[in-house]
Amino acid sequence: MTEQKKTKQHEFRAEVKQLLDILANSLYTNKEIFVRELVSNASDALDKVRFEINRGAEVRDKDLPLEIRISCDKEKKLLTITDTGLGLTEEEAINNLGTIAKSGSAEFMEQMAGEQNNLEGIIGKFGVGFYSVFMAAEKVVVKSQSYLPEAGPVAWSSDGSGVFELEDLEPGRQRGTVIEVHLKDDELSFAEADRLKDIIKRHSNFIGFPIYVEDEQV
Ligand code: ADP
Ligand code: MG
Repeated sequence: MTEQKKTKQHEFRAEVKQLLDILANSLYTNKEIFVRELVSNASDALDKVRFEINRGAEVRDKDLPLEIRISCDKEKKLLTITDTGLGLTEEEAINNLGTIAKSGSAEFMEQMAGEQNNLEGIIGKFGVGFYSVFMAAEKVVVKSQSYLPEAGPVAWSSDGSGVFELEDLEPGRQRGTVIEVHLKDDELSFAEADRLKDIIKRHSNFIGFPIYVEDEQV
């Protein structure tokens, strides 16, 4: 019997497509801010699961250390950011990684409408959240296991064009989220541990959870 992967394709909302298009075509040079955005999301997810644990909710893998681990492999053109935060269910992945619900990106789009020519300033000021990863990535895979005891693990993936895909993963993953950033050929320096440590020291200095790059705490 051949195994058939059950993938479901979804379209990004129109405003996300527009944002991705702006990011893909921008000559914006300070691409490293995507690392800050992913680390900040990991930290938010850790805050949220700590809150659930403290209020006595039923939380999967309650005793996992709350931390962020980054690893990289230049040959594989891969950067991976792993957190033990609250994770995402399939529905949350579809809703939260397919639309612009939030602060930064929404404000960004509003500003863009007014100030077409000041992309640099606007990105720097607001950040564009998760989607900024597509400045450096040709493909992103988000594998996640929600803290909710009844939720199963899922994978979200996209190349940043108009669509993303969802796939169920085999049960047995630990709680949290792994973001695989498959780097563009001209962005391979983001797979260098020293560069990553430097970026994290400069941009993610205030994060309240331990951050490890290739198993060394930054
Ligand atoms: P914001 O952080 O302002 O909400 P982002 O674009 O950075 O916006 O992220 C969008 C959403 O994706 C987050 O609100 C969160 O729901 C989800 N998300 C992103 N990264 C993670 C993660 N590591 N763990 C859990 N959820 C995440
Ligand atoms: Mg964010």
